[in-house]
Amino acid sequence: MMGPSHALSGAAVWLTGSWALDHFADYHQSPLALAVGTAVCAGGALFPDLDLSGKVTRNQGGATVARTFGVFSLFVAEVMEKISLGVYYATKLSRDPRRNNGHRTLTHTIPFTVLVGWGTTALCTAYGKWAVVGILFFMIGLALRGLFDEWAERAGWVIVTLVSAAAAWFTFANLPGDRGYPMIGLAVGVGCFVHILGDMITKAGVPILWPIPIKRRMWTMIGLPNSIALRTGSKAEVVVLRTALTVLSVLAAVGLVAPSVLQRFNIEV
Ligand SMILES: [Zn+2]
Repeated sequence: MMGPSHALSGAAVWLTGSWALDHFADYHQSPLALAVGTAVCAGGALFPDLDLSGKVTRNQGGATVARTFGVFSLFVAEVMEKISLGVYYATKLSRDPRRNNGHRTLTHTIPFTVLVGWGTTALCTAYGKWAVVGILFFMIGLALRGLFDEWAERAGWVIVTLVSAAAAWFTFANLPGDRGYPMIGLAVGVGCFVHILGDMITKAGVPILWPIPIKRRMWTMIGLPNSIALRTGSKAEVVVLRTALTVLSVLAAVGLVAPSVLQRFNIEV
């Protein structure tokens, strides 16, 4: 799947989940909390592809996410790809094939998802709002890059970086202080998990069972069979899937915000 589809799926899952919590469990979130959670989950849904590096020196290539902060994120992607490849070779069994690139390995596993979610929560607990502003800056940047792909491409990474910094600062100034922010860790973790599911419906698949060895293979790629798998960049992805995800997000957002707006104008439904 391409970057924008991943980001949209993260936003759609977070909004739908929030709507379900609001509707069935009476768990309400402020509009700011909802916006932050949605942006962080959309950003988190791009995070695993930070293992797809490009040409750092020529500022080219790499996944959508790797180009968010220009050469800086391209460099991070390069490091992430090499670490992933290292972990692949350190844990591979006799029937795992040789590889020369770490894409779709470590960052596309459940342990990685859990680690990233836990790490984010731990950072927020230890450093409070300062950790929050850093994480938000990074995640909002990824989300902008994913959700507003064409704008981000035209605007360039400097503008994307400045807009993310402004959005992170605004949130920092308006978010209640002196408490943990477990929802941010959850949103990052859910985003990563949604990314893995998104890659699972393509034919290359993901090593979702790692580190469970199966038939002397540690990195079994699980994906859909060729005939029904989603082709990257196909009409099914760009038109059908993205439209469905957008409609779902809008419906959930309306469902979440409409009752309080109606209440404000004293309209009974
Ligand atoms: Zn991926």
